[in-house]
Amino acid sequence: MKQLRMKILGFFTVVLVLFTLLFLYLFSTILERQAIEQQGEDLQSQLLTLSSLLDEEEFETDLEAVTQQLSQTADVIDERITFITPTGDVTYDSRAEEGRLENHLDRPEIQQILQEGVPVGTYDRTSESTGEVLYYAAVALNSEDGELIGFLRLSKNVEEMAGLTERMIQVLALFMMISILVALLFTNYWTKKISDPIEKMKELTEKLSVQHYSSRYNGSSYREIDDLGQSINLLAINLDQQMQEINENQTRLRELINHLIIGVMVVDSEGHITMVNPVMNEVLGEDLYGKIGERFDEALHSTTLVEMIRQAMSEQTIQNQEAELLYPEEKIVDANVVPVFNQQKETFNHIVLLYDITEIRRLEKVRTDFVANVSHELRTPITAVKGFAETLLDGALQGEAVLVEFLEIIYKESTRLDLMVQDILQLSKLEKHKASTVIQRVKARDVVEEVMKIVHQKTDLKQISVDLIEPVPVELDIDRDQLKQITLNLVGNAIAYTPEGGDITVTLSKTDKEAILSVADNGVGIPKESQARVFERFYRVDKARSRNAGGTGLGLAIVKWLVENNDGQISLESEEHKGSTFTVWLPLTKEA
Ligand code: ADP
Repeated sequence: MKQLRMKILGFFTVVLVLFTLLFLYLFSTILERQAIEQQGEDLQSQLLTLSSLLDEEEFETDLEAVTQQLSQTADVIDERITFITPTGDVTYDSRAEEGRLENHLDRPEIQQILQEGVPVGTYDRTSESTGEVLYYAAVALNSEDGELIGFLRLSKNVEEMAGLTERMIQVLALFMMISILVALLFTNYWTKKISDPIEKMKELTEKLSVQHYSSRYNGSSYREIDDLGQSINLLAINLDQQMQEINENQTRLRELINHLIIGVMVVDSEGHITMVNPVMNEVLGEDLYGKIGERFDEALHSTTLVEMIRQAMSEQTIQNQEAELLYPEEKIVDANVVPVFNQQKETFNHIVLLYDITEIRRLEKVRTDFVANVSHELRTPITAVKGFAETLLDGALQGEAVLVEFLEIIYKESTRLDLMVQDILQLSKLEKHKASTVIQRVKARDVVEEVMKIVHQKTDLKQISVDLIEPVPVELDIDRDQLKQITLNLVGNAIAYTPEGGDITVTLSKTDKEAILSVADNGVGIPKESQARVFERFYRVDKARSRNAGGTGLGLAIVKWLVENNDGQISLESEEHKGSTFTVWLPLTKEA
């Protein structure tokens, strides 16, 4: 802006100076011309007066008398007097020696008379050496009979007149200079008043372009310029508001994306990862934040996913697939790659959405396996009940002994069926979190003793001794019924898989944070290869023995589920034919 100001000022200076010079030149020329003309006219009239006073006859007869007459005249006037003969010789000159003057016939004032026939020939010229202007006026002198006697010439220096002009020009020049100065001062003031606010506006727009939307124009100048400033302020306010809205929307969107339960990743048209949300990192099991800016095919491990993104990019269609991720852990994800189009219908982003369905698929499998297992397990007692009932109907009713035996079998199988259905119902209730739990402070000893009472008949029958060891009293926060169920199942199994006369030891102990319940027997034990599987539903080491013992294959599955849902752990140590020890760790305290 300063440059523009300097340009305007420079331009005005040059124009003003040029015009002043031109004016001064024209003015001085006109003034000088005027002076020359004025003086020329005076000279001419003087010449005519002088010529009329001269006696032409004397020129022919007594040249000396004429010369004398002329010299007398020259004494009283300032002008130079010259007399030139018709051949151009100078016979008298009041300022120079006649003999030394060259022929004057070709002088313009003489030629004017000779050629143009004017009464008075005039000529003015500027002396090259002195710069003075000399004015010449000549008149032809004729005898009475009209013969040319010679030329009388007066010449005058118009120097004094020029001097006056010069002074006038000097005064004028000074005046003009002052005018220029004043004009320039005003121009400077006005250009400053215009350019300063424009400079401020320029700075403001530059700030706006780098998102400093709080900047405002506060200059004061001419109304039109201030109006422009206010318009820019309005623009800045609007931009500020829009930017705030954009930022708010972005924050909202970021919050939304970060709290989605679906993994979201954005890949730009060049294939670079531009955004990921926390869930995406969780699903893929790696930190993709550090890989933002990298190409997706270099950053991602899953070939299926990479292939899906490539396909979406080349076909520009939504890709949907159930993909299996192998690294760093096996997962099943519902993957979607959605191309996002801009207004020109060119893709500019690809959104990758991953939904972890590992648990869903696992539960589905568990459910189908469970249904298959349940049907299979139920079929055995049902077939037995049905078979024996049919046999009885077919005529086996006669013999009372057979009848009682068959009915006992039917009773036993239907009891097993009942137990199984109860276990299945309990398990499904637990899984659906429908079983109501009441967390309370429970004395572990009380629960164990209650269980011992329940199994009392069985232990008596098999002459199995059950010992309870509790070095220190153990109390814990738990649902009493659940702890009872755990203990009952473990003690029940110990009784079922321990031959007559065996020993069972229930030990209660604790650490700082956990209560430990261990149930040890010296029964049949569990083979190594089956130890990991006994907690599976319907898994039984020896189906026949389990069935005889009234087992359903669900007891340990229920125990495991209850223990884990109480934030505990269960372990098994067993040796075939020597016995088994099941140990359960449960937290002593629990927040309500
Ligand atoms: P079940 O109703 O058949 O007892 P569980 O789930 O309670 O089913 O136990 C699964 C299997 O683990 C049993 O069939 C049995 O073979 C084995 N088992 C459980 N407890 C013991 C134990 N104390 N001693 C030996 N084997 C056991």
